[in-house]
Amino acid sequence: MKHRLLDILACPWCGQPFELRTYDSPQKTGETTSGVLISGCGRRFPIVRGIPRVIENATELFPDFVHAHAADFTDAFKAPGRRSNIDPKSRTDDAIEKTRKSFGYQWTVFREMVIDFRENFFYYIRPLDQSFFKGKLGLDMGCGFGRHIYNAALFGAEMVGVDLSDAIESTAENTRELPNVHLIQADVYHLPFRPGVFDFAYSIGVLHHLPDPERGYQSLLPIVKPRGAVFIWVYSKKRAVVNAILETARAVTTRVPPKVQQGLSYTFAAVDWWAIKAYQGLAAVPGLGSAMRKLPLPRLRLYTHYPFQVVYADWFDRFAAPIRFYYDENDLTGWVSRAKLTHTSISPTGLFGWRAYGERE
Ligand SMILES: [Zn+2]
Repeated sequence: MKHRLLDILACPWCGQPFELRTYDSPQKTGETTSGVLISGCGRRFPIVRGIPRVIENATELFPDFVHAHAADFTDAFKAPGRRSNIDPKSRTDDAIEKTRKSFGYQWTVFREMVIDFRENFFYYIRPLDQSFFKGKLGLDMGCGFGRHIYNAALFGAEMVGVDLSDAIESTAENTRELPNVHLIQADVYHLPFRPGVFDFAYSIGVLHHLPDPERGYQSLLPIVKPRGAVFIWVYSKKRAVVNAILETARAVTTRVPPKVQQGLSYTFAAVDWWAIKAYQGLAAVPGLGSAMRKLPLPRLRLYTHYPFQVVYADWFDRFAAPIRFYYDENDLTGWVSRAKLTHTSISPTGLFGWRAYGERE
C-alpha cells in the first residue's frame, strides 16, 4: 500500500481516518507491504501482501497473518465465532459471502490477461474514450482480475481498484508494473473512502451480481466529487427467452461444486468456440462474408474478437455467479434519476447489456 492512499481512506463504519502501523516495507519509501490500519472506532484491518483488507471478517480470512501479529489483533482471539453467535448472518450477508467465494474462484482460474482488453474497455464505457482518464483519480468497483483498471491506469488516471474477493490478488499480479494503481479488498456497501475524493467511479459487469444492485450503485455517489462521473454496465433484459433458459439451468449449476461448474463451462465454451470459429471462417469467404455478417448472430460476431479464455470465463460466470439481475432502459433511468445525476446517458451494448453514465451535481 502506498502511503498517499491514507489521504483518501476512511473507516467505513465510523468515517474516521486510519492510523497506519507498518511491519514491513519494500526498499523504496512510502509503501507498506505488511501492516495494519487502525480506525478510531477500534477496528483493525490487516495489510497483507501490500493490500489493505478493509472487511469485517479480515481476521478470519488471514488467520496466519493475524497470529503472526497477535499483539495488534488481541480482539480477534477473545472468542472465536463470537460475531456469528450474537449476530446470525443475514441472508444478504450469506449471498455476499457466496458471491465473494464464487468470483474469487472465477478470477483466480481466469486471471490471465490473454489480450489487452482495450477495445473491450471502450465497448463498456462509450462514449467516453482514452482522453477522459488523464490526470484523474478514479475508482474501479469490482476490479476482478484487473482487465479494466489496467487500461484506465495506462490512459493516465491514478486508479484505486476495489474487490471483495480473492480476485484482488489477480489484479495485483496483472497491474504490478503500474505505479498508479492502488488496490483494496473491500465491499461496495462499506467503501473505505472519504466523501468526494474521486473524479470518477465506475463498475463494469459487477452490480448485477449484488443482492441489492441499486444500493451498490448509490454507494458510489458520495465518494465522487461534485461534477464527477459515475458510469456502469449491467446485464440487459432484452434476451428474455435466453435469460429464462439460463436462469432455469442456473437453479442447478449455482449449487454444484466449482470444479463441476468449471467442467460444465469448458464443455459449453468448447461447443461455442466451434460455432464462433465456423462463423468467423464463413464470414471470411469472399461473396459469403457480407451475407454472414447480416445474419442476426450478434453474439458470435462479438466473440470473434476474443480468445477462448474469455468465452470460457463468460460461461463460468453464467453458470456459477450466485446472483444475476437483468435490466432495461427504464430501470436504469430510475437509477440515475433517483441518484440525481446530470448529463446522463443510457445506451445499450447490443442485446447484452446497458451502459449508464451520469455526473453528480
Ligand atoms: Zn471505524
